[in-house]
Amino acid sequence: MSNLLDTSIEFLKGVGPARGDLLRRELGIGTYRDLLHFFPNRYIDRTKYYKVNELRPNHSAEVQIVGKVVNIKTVEQQRGKRLVATFIDDTGQMELVWFQGHKWIKESLKPNMPMVIFGKVNWFNGVFSMPHPEMEALEEHKQNLRTAMQPVYPSTETLGNRGVSNRVVSKMMQQLFVETQANFAETLPPYLIDELKLIPKNAALFNVHFPKSQELLAKARFRLKFEELFFIQLQLITKNLIRKHKIKGNAFTTVGKHFNDFFQHHLPFGLTDAQKRVVKEIRHDIGQAAQMNRLLQGDVGSGKTIVALMSMLIALDNGFQSCLMAPTEILATQHFNGLTELAKPLGINIKLLTGSTKTPDRKIIHEALEDGSLDILIGTHALLEDKVQFKNLGLAVIDEQHRFGVEQRSKLWKKNDIPPHVLVMTATPIPRTLAMSLYGDLDISVIDELPPGRKPIQTVHRTDGSRLKVWKFLKDEIAKGRQVYIVYPLIQESEKMDYKDLIDGYESISRDFPLPQYSVSIVHGKMKPAEKEAEMKRFAEGKTNIMVATTVIEVGVNVPNASVMVIESAERFGLSQLHQLRGRVGRGAEQSYCILMTGHKLSNDTRTRLDTMVRTNDGFEIAEVDLKLRGPGDLMGTQQSGVLNLQIADLVQDREILQVARNIATKILKEDPTMERADHAAMRHTFIELSRKKNIWNYIS
Ligand code: ADP
Ligand code: MG
Repeated sequence: MSNLLDTSIEFLKGVGPARGDLLRRELGIGTYRDLLHFFPNRYIDRTKYYKVNELRPNHSAEVQIVGKVVNIKTVEQQRGKRLVATFIDDTGQMELVWFQGHKWIKESLKPNMPMVIFGKVNWFNGVFSMPHPEMEALEEHKQNLRTAMQPVYPSTETLGNRGVSNRVVSKMMQQLFVETQANFAETLPPYLIDELKLIPKNAALFNVHFPKSQELLAKARFRLKFEELFFIQLQLITKNLIRKHKIKGNAFTTVGKHFNDFFQHHLPFGLTDAQKRVVKEIRHDIGQAAQMNRLLQGDVGSGKTIVALMSMLIALDNGFQSCLMAPTEILATQHFNGLTELAKPLGINIKLLTGSTKTPDRKIIHEALEDGSLDILIGTHALLEDKVQFKNLGLAVIDEQHRFGVEQRSKLWKKNDIPPHVLVMTATPIPRTLAMSLYGDLDISVIDELPPGRKPIQTVHRTDGSRLKVWKFLKDEIAKGRQVYIVYPLIQESEKMDYKDLIDGYESISRDFPLPQYSVSIVHGKMKPAEKEAEMKRFAEGKTNIMVATTVIEVGVNVPNASVMVIESAERFGLSQLHQLRGRVGRGAEQSYCILMTGHKLSNDTRTRLDTMVRTNDGFEIAEVDLKLRGPGDLMGTQQSGVLNLQIADLVQDREILQVARNIATKILKEDPTMERADHAAMRHTFIELSRKKNIWNYIS
């Protein structure tokens, strides 16, 4: 069977080389198997026939009508010609319109012959028209087997223009089922089919293309979605198991002096349950002789830093060094200050290395790293330089994973024979669904709880019209001793204009909040690191009231006294970015606010983004909305866009199925890691076949 499905698509009767080429190029359909797994994206009820007088101007779905063509004419228009036919039934008349393929259509249109037309209708100047209808003689139509749900396959403009209509694709599908005798091998173990009450593979494929009923269609789709997600999970989990097997790691078996001393005597606050749980997960992982590769997700302010420190202390207790890498100098410095403060009573050696570390200091750091007297190194990209040689790096913590590529990361551990454990911390909550599919080969820890006593940030949306009121509010807050961020967008393509907006904004704010009563800081990407640093420092020390900035403050900066975040041109920010920015406030005990400033004209998507921000502080909920608005590819950045070439499942809608698929895949691989069991033979076969077709999985490092 598998051989037949590998047949090149042009050999299917009615396809041929030219069309085969087209299908390959436009839809990526190269074989019988590809066609079989080319699924409809929706279905239309073709048991219903409309009358012309039943058409309504805002009818959006396709309709089918029985009638006849009575008149054909060519109409000249500004660009090219248009072929127009008058179509009538016993209730009225409408137009059929073609912009292409006139010759062929003129020849095949038979006036006064009863026929069925099918397509979308437009309404213009009191006339209904149907562009490029599908047509069939009524006689022929009656003979064809009709199913209630007519599949509609994805298409492209080129395909439409080249005559590969939906009907043509449906016919190809029929031919495929004839040639293969609709005999497709089962891929899942029988017990699983029983347990999940799935319909057999054969029935699923048949009903997804030729649904016999709504009910069977639903069952078919469920079965195929499950199967798709299940095999992806099998792949990802297997990969993870192999990594754990193959990539050795240093087993940190001792939880010793430093960790215990800190945990018992120097914790500045009680850990949240979530923090405790995550520390436990990490402890377990790094206690194994396999490399840890763990993603730590936690909303802004959830307290990831202390978890990182405690992990590094375990490394230290086992005689290993650690490093913490942050994407910006400001952040690295802040981590350095914070961790030095926390670890002060422990008497350990922590250093900071960034681009602006002076040469003599650098030398000292390099030496201390190599002779092992340096315990923890914190820094930026500077850590990746060749000169930076650890004596024995045991744990690498990476803050904000989005800014470090996988390649860069692995640079760190090329330096060791046994790679360090890796902990990647991110405040961008990736919806679990997506994380599970994209990072199925990483382990994931989640801090899903904020430290106690935090007041939820109040968020409002204001338009430019209420700027005076907003400024008054800021003045009241400043009078109470609070500080304020005002953030402007910075988007690469229009950097110059953004810069101008920022400077204009700064000037008008300086006018509205004049010295000596107020003082205003500004930080932006064109400033030298040292200048930025100095200005951030002034703000952090409370010497200025307002920080005007571009998104350079997006990550990590911690100024607990800042209680108001104003985001200018909020419509230009993505949802997760808005959430990140908002996370700069609400870090102290005071009530904090976030004010989203926009113009009046807003798109629907923008409204959804703003409404979501106003409604919730929950980063995961926000990430889910973001995923819905933007789609997974976009959410992850270009690097991963389009990687999840899912054929039928949908990460947002089918997350419950994904969860089930993951649980079952985990269980199966635990019981039978190599899928040797007799009842797993078909599954193993499919698994191997899919692994050969690498396209879905090769994005994973
Ligand atoms: P993030 O996860 O955004 O990196 P941080 O680690 O910077 O968060 O923590 C944010 C703030 O919360 C810091 O000031 C930190 O000291 C404080 N914090 C962390 N954990 C707790 C806790 N369990 N109880 C009280 N405060 C905490
Ligand atoms: Mg942080």
